[in-house]
Amino acid sequence: MATPTGRAPRVKQKRGEGQWALGYREPLNPNERSKKDDNPLNVRARIENIYARGGFDSIDPGDLRGRFRWFGLYTQRKPGIDGGRTALLEPEELDDRYFMLRVRIDGGALTTEQLAVLGEISQTHARETADITDRQNIQYHWIQIEDVPTIWQKLEDAGMTTMEACGDSPRVILGSPVAGIAADEIIDGTPAIDEIKRRYIGDPRYSNLPRKFKTAVSGQADVAHEIHDIAFVGVVHPEHGPGFDLWVGGGLSTNPMIGQRLGAWVPRDEVPDVWEGVISVFRDYGYRRLRARARIKFLVKDWGAEKFRQVLEDEYLKRKLIDGPAPEVPDKPLDHVGVHPQTDGKFYVGAAPIAGRVDGATLIAVAKAAERAGSNRVRLTPQQKLVVLDIPETEVKALVSELAELGLQAEPSPWRRGIMACTGLEFCKLAIVETKARAHKLVGELEKRLADIQSEIDTPVTVHLNGCPNSCARVQTADIGLKGQIVTDDEGNQVEGFQVHLGGGLGLDAGFGRKLRGHKVTSAQLTEYVERVVRAYIAGREPGERFAQ
Ligand code: SF4
Repeated sequence: MATPTGRAPRVKQKRGEGQWALGYREPLNPNERSKKDDNPLNVRARIENIYARGGFDSIDPGDLRGRFRWFGLYTQRKPGIDGGRTALLEPEELDDRYFMLRVRIDGGALTTEQLAVLGEISQTHARETADITDRQNIQYHWIQIEDVPTIWQKLEDAGMTTMEACGDSPRVILGSPVAGIAADEIIDGTPAIDEIKRRYIGDPRYSNLPRKFKTAVSGQADVAHEIHDIAFVGVVHPEHGPGFDLWVGGGLSTNPMIGQRLGAWVPRDEVPDVWEGVISVFRDYGYRRLRARARIKFLVKDWGAEKFRQVLEDEYLKRKLIDGPAPEVPDKPLDHVGVHPQTDGKFYVGAAPIAGRVDGATLIAVAKAAERAGSNRVRLTPQQKLVVLDIPETEVKALVSELAELGLQAEPSPWRRGIMACTGLEFCKLAIVETKARAHKLVGELEKRLADIQSEIDTPVTVHLNGCPNSCARVQTADIGLKGQIVTDDEGNQVEGFQVHLGGGLGLDAGFGRKLRGHKVTSAQLTEYVERVVRAYIAGREPGERFAQ
């Protein structure tokens, strides 16, 4: 509409938070500019047609450090740069010429054929790397750009993808590893996960979000739903029956927040529509000006659950949601490790590598072992574990020993069972300290040192190692959360170490561990420290008391 002067009305001059819905369409930072200049999904064609042929040096820097992520690609850390220099160097000084490549495995659901393909890719293109992440992904390292189109072809031939595995996009959808077969499950979330993926993953309408958007859908509380941007958790409505309770606005990193319940019950076939409504609220109202405030949790915190639900209903769904009850809280964390009966008379076997570290040969061997035992379904878990489904009772014992020979224990020590570690200094450009090898060493040492009290540990004690404050391995939700940083040792030297958070948890005691000010430990002293903490807990606890209490 023209003004009395004949000019177009002025767009708001105040900078605001960069919310599209309030008229702030002009990009306010380089990340937003990059996404506006070219939809990140378009980078795939350039990788296939230009960069894979021209090699690393042909890659446009805007694609390399920005849009590549939409297809699961990050440059990995150049070897030999210690953690103390991470913050001192420009990103390009940390860039290796090799990539990390993340394969999204929605719901952690794989066939044995898919698992074997993942293993083969690891052997052929990734120097045998294939970490199981705490988001049920497989993460490769040492990938060369020249190999990426071939890898995509192999993945897609087997029904897998790296699309939107990273970037400001709807990331992999977490789901219960035992969906559809678990006795405790209220409802199977798999059809909802499949439908969200089918309708919206790779849809350009949702590929330019303010930041990443993490989803969890499960019929039971086994996917860390409290710390997701959006989560649907199984619940029984007194009139309508089984469905999902809707949570929004959870997340960790440097401003951890527990998600908020919107008090709405969602039937399974409406989950994809409601998911689309929530991601649209985020896309349109999310804060884009400052990256540090761009997650949906900041919007939910500022608005509150009531206003968020009202905007979702009035502007996006155009209908009211049904009020519903809160989900039941399990009395112990669910990691699905061990041998468990399924509802159909078969069994599932959950086994623990150390901190998700496996290799291509192991994945292929697991696929074969599962098939020999009569199964063709394997699941990755949000605790960096692996579960083989559908095992006849007569095959369970043999499978358990075959997995143990592969380093995957179905009856692990509490340390092996409770440990998680992020990528850390080995490959991550943001890392300050080493994590995976440290976790490996820690488990071995604790198994020896604490053998005398192992039988007294009746609930798992979780230890999560993170290479920096970003909390990819959920530092704030562990019994013993470790956040990598440079610390001062007894001789006054600056060395790798950790800030300690104690007593975090999800489920029963959802809350974040207390960051103990001044409570820091060097990496070299970590084993002694954990041993001391655990012995003190065992000596001082009341009967039935969990670590987090
Ligand atoms: Fe990298 Fe930090 Fe995340 Fe670990 S927590 S993977 S070091 S960004």
